[in-house]
Amino acid sequence: MKNYNVYCLDLDGTVYHGTEPIPEAVSFISDLQSQGIEPYYITNNSTATPEQVIEKLASFGIKTYVDKIMSSALVSAKYCKEHYDGATVQIMGEKGLHDALVSEGFTFVTENPDIVVVGLDREVSYSKFTEIALAIRSGAKFIATNGDKAIPTERGLLPGAGSLVKLLEFTTGVKPVILGKPESHMLAFIKSENGYSKEEMVMVGDNYDTDILSGIRYGIDTIYVEGGVTSKEEILSQAEKPTHLLRTLADWQL
Ligand SMILES: [Mg+2]
Repeated sequence: MKNYNVYCLDLDGTVYHGTEPIPEAVSFISDLQSQGIEPYYITNNSTATPEQVIEKLASFGIKTYVDKIMSSALVSAKYCKEHYDGATVQIMGEKGLHDALVSEGFTFVTENPDIVVVGLDREVSYSKFTEIALAIRSGAKFIATNGDKAIPTERGLLPGAGSLVKLLEFTTGVKPVILGKPESHMLAFIKSENGYSKEEMVMVGDNYDTDILSGIRYGIDTIYVEGGVTSKEEILSQAEKPTHLLRTLADWQL
């Protein structure tokens, strides 16, 4: 095993399952912190603000900070700032996405936006789809927080942001720029904002198609942990395997 300095942890399925913490992950994080390493938390969830993520982790006894949270909402806002600074925006999304764009200084409009950013919106309506679709047809840049088909909940798998994005793509014929995992924009921002090298970074997660692929595509090491979305059998059948395979994070020697 290798000692990394920058641990990028997926949240749901890696640190907790819904509202239940994963005890091995909680002790792993505490061990990292006792060695002076504050991990990053990388989530495709665009609905929560960093403060809400911090509050949820605090309820499991995990202390962290705003600058350690990287969500698909934050990366979308950072991407828009980098490529379309000063543009007008219209969103389909919740508080996490709205606040991320506000903190990057974007102005919201109700028609003719320069960009639309689409994330999970659990109260979306036909009229909202209509507004966003018309904006894309009028030439607005089409940005998607992430392409997740489904989100795991107590009730089962519910439609994810990617399902809303697909509807818009289908009706407009325009393909969006997608920013969350398995793309590697979140890892790239963490590296560039802190001056890390890829060798010291590792992406840790339970989902091959998002977590592990984002690390592989970015060219950093990956740690797959069993017990979440991807089974060990599915991992073993992949041509490109994670760097490390663990049953739980208790198996990682720091
Ligand atoms: Mg996960």
